[in-house]
Amino acid sequence: MMPAPATAPTAPVTPATPSRMKRHRTKEYTQLMNSRRWRRLRAAYLSAHPVCEDCEAQGRTTIATEVHHIRPIEERAGRPDDMQELAFNPCNLRALCRPCHIEAHRVLHSNSLSSSKERARAELSAFASAYLSE
Ligand SMILES: [Zn+2]
Ligand SMILES: [Zn+2]
Repeated sequence: MMPAPATAPTAPVTPATPSRMKRHRTKEYTQLMNSRRWRRLRAAYLSAHPVCEDCEAQGRTTIATEVHHIRPIEERAGRPDDMQELAFNPCNLRALCRPCHIEAHRVLHSNSLSSSKERARAELSAFASAYLSE
């Protein structure tokens, strides 16, 4: 007597993919970061800049583990050519340790919230210094 292939109680249940929950990264961004070109550039940049550039500026020597984009790639979302230019331009890269990378993004975020205020202030001080230097 063969046992009937009843409903298997051990059938694997596929969990909901957590990646779907992160909607702040665009598809283009994810594709760029997963590209072979970026992985290669990132590795090359880290081997050329093994020390965290922010820590180094403060006289500390910390191993860099991450590569940060100074101008955020997401800024150009929807314009793939511009995104690639920002993503793969070595001038836009900075080798950072994890704490400095977190800090860099915290600053970027707060700058983006107050960017119009900052710009107004920068214009005002540029005006003032030009005016006062006469
Ligand atoms: Zn650092
Ligand atoms: Zn970053």
